[in-house]
Amino acid sequence: MSGIIALRAKESPAHGRSRVATKVWQGMNWVRQEKRAALYERDGRRCLQCGRGTNDGVTLTLDHLVPRSVCTAVAELDPKTEIVVDGEITVFAGKPNESHNLVTMCGDCNSSRGATPWTEFYNADAQVRVRSAIRTEIDLALGKRIIASLAGSPIESAR
Ligand SMILES: [Zn+2]
Repeated sequence: MSGIIALRAKESPAHGRSRVATKVWQGMNWVRQEKRAALYERDGRRCLQCGRGTNDGVTLTLDHLVPRSVCTAVAELDPKTEIVVDGEITVFAGKPNESHNLVTMCGDCNSSRGATPWTEFYNADAQVRVRSAIRTEIDLALGKRIIASLAGSPIESAR
């Protein structure tokens, strides 16, 4: 069993999703659109690393502070293993998509990070922004309103 499948089983045990659904989950639908929108709002609709937003011509994506690849590898051993994101904030290996493990990042910055630890990749100012962001509750109701107002047009590409 691959880590991805184990992870999917942990994420949605009640849905009995197929392998086809797993592929979708790895693409743009790995997080609900309203949650994605709420995360972008929490972060001011800008990349927390370089500060650029959609008005600057960049695509917004979500960055996993503890990389998904790390979570997946650890989840193969035990999905309930807690991995430290920052200080007292932890994420279960089997649940890498919690809002306190996700921050807004432009596609350029995200594609150059790879699996570099976020405390090494993010610059000092960005680390301050990250630490504040992951301690802020996301507003899912706002996210839902944003998605509804978009009337079906995707707000960004897959990530
Ligand atoms: Zn950036």
